[in-house]
Amino acid sequence: MITLPNIERQLFFTSLSKHINATKNDGSTLGLLLVDIVNLAQINHQFGYQYGDQALCQCHSRLLSISRITDTVFRIGDHQFVFILPSLKTPSFIALAFNKINNVLKEEMLIDGASVNCDIRIGLALNKNANFSAENTLLVAESSLKQSKKDNGALNLSQPEDDNQQSQALDELFESTLKDNDFELFYQPKINMHTGVADSAEALLRWHIPGEGFISPMVAIEIAEKTGHSFDLTKWVMQTAIRQLKAWEKLNLDLTIAINISADLILEPELFTLVQDSLAIWGVQKNHLTLEITETAVMEDKEAGFDGLLKFKESGVNLSIDDFGTGYSSLSYFKQIPANELKIDQSFVTNMLSSPEDQQIVKIIIDIGHIFDLKLVAEGIEDQQTYDFLRELGCDYGQGYHMSKPLPADEFLKFIQGN
Ligand code: C2E
Ligand code: MG
Ligand code: MG
Repeated sequence: MITLPNIERQLFFTSLSKHINATKNDGSTLGLLLVDIVNLAQINHQFGYQYGDQALCQCHSRLLSISRITDTVFRIGDHQFVFILPSLKTPSFIALAFNKINNVLKEEMLIDGASVNCDIRIGLALNKNANFSAENTLLVAESSLKQSKKDNGALNLSQPEDDNQQSQALDELFESTLKDNDFELFYQPKINMHTGVADSAEALLRWHIPGEGFISPMVAIEIAEKTGHSFDLTKWVMQTAIRQLKAWEKLNLDLTIAINISADLILEPELFTLVQDSLAIWGVQKNHLTLEITETAVMEDKEAGFDGLLKFKESGVNLSIDDFGTGYSSLSYFKQIPANELKIDQSFVTNMLSSPEDQQIVKIIIDIGHIFDLKLVAEGIEDQQTYDFLRELGCDYGQGYHMSKPLPADEFLKFIQGN
């Protein structure tokens, strides 16, 4: 007697949801492969059910043998298995897994002296930044499987662009969340590397959908831009962060808070008024607020972008250029840039211990930034060695999971007070 792998749909959904949630913050893509043994009925018919059962068992163990992580292979139907790829750096890497599965399952099976060949079709789904739920990820894989059956098993990487109904539902949910004040801000400490004290924080938007988990802030920003709610969302972020700053000031905490400004708002005249009014209403000092603007946003329309920023800088608010190093700035940029701070993009920081090129880039940005009197912040510090190295290079501030992940306001307060 052989034991067939159980059909475990519920366990699969639990595991898939867990893996989807884990991709929320790291920018990676989850891949799902749905494997269908299309000739199982035929094997049963031709050789007998014991052969079919053994073929299923062999497929299962072959899939397990190529999966490096537990909790990623499940049988979810009579002749269907799923294979979860929890974190793809590049979505097209799913093609490698597709080929591997194809090869390993198509290899001949010897069952009780008979040669059995499985005929399989594979459907695939890509889910970037936890954009959709476990159920919808499987739906995408199922429709890709249908297509693959029509195409005789050819690899097809195309995915439904953005399922219209689903995207509309998300837009509506976004609008009601904004209206009901149901977004949240988390705060990630920025550590002053000269003193070791967390004297600043970056406010990061969090959108929690009950039953679905957290949706990436990038998705929220994208929807806000698409539906014309960018300003309203920024207004909510600004007012929430400044009110929080005031509450912490009352506890005698001397903090600076940074908020992110969407690219499409830089040239919006109302933004300036919003910032000034929010600071005045809560009686918060201007130099306790930092606005983070991505380098690419400023570079898109350099002249106009600089003019817009200059107004803020002259008003006494701090300006920080986010994701610096990714926007093809020229050297002369340093001389003109109306900012107080550069945040070195985490892609350079995360790899700097293993990549001499990234190390050089970080070193050069720090040195030139200092010549022009800019404070340097490194984001994405994930270990002590990187922290120590950056401090030796003279970096002023550090931010990263090694020191702390972004935290809800009450946990941030505990972090600061324990410092
Ligand atoms: P950002 O402004 O560059 O923020 C840093 C991102 O890196 C945050 O992701 C943070 O959680 C993550 N991070 C921090 N330390 C580490 C680390 O050590 N390792 C890794 N792998 N990641 C780290 P998050 O919160 O998902 O935000 C993503 C982006 O969404 C932000 O990038 C920002 O551009 C945008 N965003 C977030 N909140 C807002 C907001 O209120 N308004 C606007 N306009 N954009 C926002
Ligand atoms: Mg930022
Ligand atoms: Mg950044």
